[in-house]
Amino acid sequence: MLMADYNENHPLKDESAAASHLEVEMNPSIWFEEEDMTSADEPYLAPILSDSFALWHKETDKLLLAEGSFALYDWSLKCVGIAGGLNKSEEADSHALADKLAAAVQRSGSIETDSLGSLYACAVPVMKRSEERPFCVFIHLSVTGESSLTVAKLSAVHFRSCFYRRFEQLYVKDLLLQQQRTEKELNRRDALFGVAKQLYDQTDVSSVLSEMLMSLEKLYPTSEVHLYLSQDHLNGDPRVKPLVFKNTAHDLIAKAFLEGRPVNELDRNGMMRIAMPMTGKQAAYGVLFITMEAERWDVSDLPAFLLVADTAGSAFENAKLYEQSNLLINELRLINELAKRLNQSLRLKEIFQFVTKELLNIFEADFCCVLQLNKEKNQFIVMSSNVPDMSSEHFSPEYGFCGIVHRTKEPLIISDYWNTRVVTSKLMDNTGSRSLIASPILVDGEVAGVIFVTHKTANFFSYDNYKLLQVMSTHIGLAITNASLHAEVRRMVITDNLTGLHARHYLNEQIQNRQRKDPLGALILVDIDHFKRINDTFGHQVGDRILVQVSNIIRASIRQGDIAARWGGEELAVYLPGIQAEQAFRIAERIRSHVEEETDPVVTVSCGVSEWTFENEKISVESLFYRADMALYEAKHHGRNCIFVGQAN
Ligand code: GH3
Ligand code: MG
Ligand code: MG
Repeated sequence: MLMADYNENHPLKDESAAASHLEVEMNPSIWFEEEDMTSADEPYLAPILSDSFALWHKETDKLLLAEGSFALYDWSLKCVGIAGGLNKSEEADSHALADKLAAAVQRSGSIETDSLGSLYACAVPVMKRSEERPFCVFIHLSVTGESSLTVAKLSAVHFRSCFYRRFEQLYVKDLLLQQQRTEKELNRRDALFGVAKQLYDQTDVSSVLSEMLMSLEKLYPTSEVHLYLSQDHLNGDPRVKPLVFKNTAHDLIAKAFLEGRPVNELDRNGMMRIAMPMTGKQAAYGVLFITMEAERWDVSDLPAFLLVADTAGSAFENAKLYEQSNLLINELRLINELAKRLNQSLRLKEIFQFVTKELLNIFEADFCCVLQLNKEKNQFIVMSSNVPDMSSEHFSPEYGFCGIVHRTKEPLIISDYWNTRVVTSKLMDNTGSRSLIASPILVDGEVAGVIFVTHKTANFFSYDNYKLLQVMSTHIGLAITNASLHAEVRRMVITDNLTGLHARHYLNEQIQNRQRKDPLGALILVDIDHFKRINDTFGHQVGDRILVQVSNIIRASIRQGDIAARWGGEELAVYLPGIQAEQAFRIAERIRSHVEEETDPVVTVSCGVSEWTFENEKISVESLFYRADMALYEAKHHGRNCIFVGQAN
């Protein structure tokens, strides 16, 4: 349907620029002169006939050759052209005569003449150039009748040449158009193939999205491409937006999404807007939206557009599943790792550091900060962070995002801190972060800490990230509970119940450790004088109280690195690292005098002091105790309430 196609798109009345351009450029003696219209083209010939009739008339006018008037009929006997003038009175007759003659030529296939009143008419069948078959009727009407047949014949020949010139122009133009279309189609197929391949090569969601947008912009230059996503996967690309159903400006987009089919409309500014759902096998993920100038839009582009949207939908789904399985794997790995860590080390600080490192890794985050709530001090203390100036910071439980999480006991997600400044946050301000996910660490339903994970880019974290952090903080909470319990058990094991001083085995361990590392140290043994008597006089409970009083005095008399322990029933011991007997004596004296002054009922203590230095021949815990014990024995012997220093061995 060569011509039909052409007619639809190009009104033949136009002396189009393209046609005149062709007239100049085309060499007339080429193969297409042999081409002719087919019978299938004939029903669509009328516009070309009237167009070439006008052309013929224009050329004839210049020659000033004919009097009378001319008419052209197509093969369905429709009059498609009239030229020249007759008197008004003759007009009706001439129409009737021309109609009659045209019908006669169509029947006979040869020249027909006739007259009506003073009118004389001659009708000539115009033959196709490829076969002896007429395709229209050319008629000359005159009042004189003179040379009408010759004029009709000559004019018909001239007209035929005008017609075929026109035909050739259109034919060539049509061919070119076809060629252009085929080329465009081929290019597009290549491009689409490339797009599909590229899309399937991507394994992360962001790459799929940018690849698709880039491909569409390449395929449809000068158009504007946007993607509206129903799932939250905003990756900072300004062309990717959330799908909002409330917004009426997005009606077309919502419609495409809800109905699951492409929709398009012409807007008031003459722009074509096309919305296409992006669907995978499991769900619809969003809507692809293109705006382009209406004249650039070709309905035949729709399948290509659909194909890209479909391919992108599947690729998006694959990438998303891949990403989700990666997240799950990471989650399982982390939980496994946490459990392992728990068996290896029960140190809280280590767990916090491990969590920080892992969270940064899993979320590809910029910053992480883990805070613990110290109930005694009533403040959040930073236990671990990759932000140097945050370490050991502390905050009030009401401050910033800690405050919100502490109050609500819920995790939170901030897409853009710069736009939604609900509270001020030192972490966000100091690091220039815009995205945040935070989760409480719950222990027995109470907030024991808060985890913060941040990124400098806005909209960085997805809902999945937020959920994952929540799951992980449950495990972290368990790990912390276990570590705390473990620490508590250990504290109980190494602490004496009554006095709160260390247990004997702990003191032994510590002295042994110190003797391996230090150059010297001293030991004080403290024994309450006549304690049996105190018990007998005041009862065991009072005896116990005295024991606690003496222990408190000892604790208050020593430095932080010194280790005080309950050595036996009413015998207490203090190990003083890096200290010689002389100084130890002074400390023992301090203890002795304080006990005498402060205990109620008053008791006294005797002390034995011993020391060791790296020069000693035999360094051992036993030897150190033996010598202190000997010194203590001497003190008891010398009337009690005094201090003796044991001999070095
Ligand atoms: P000294 O050391 O001055 O020679 O006389 P002492 O009476 O203190 O000596 P001894 O070693 O004979 O008696 C120690 C007493 O301390 C025996 C025991 O009843 C008492 N004692 C030991 N452990 C505890 C305790 O945990 N609580 C109380 N209330 N008494 C204890
Ligand atoms: Mg004793
Ligand atoms: Mg005693």
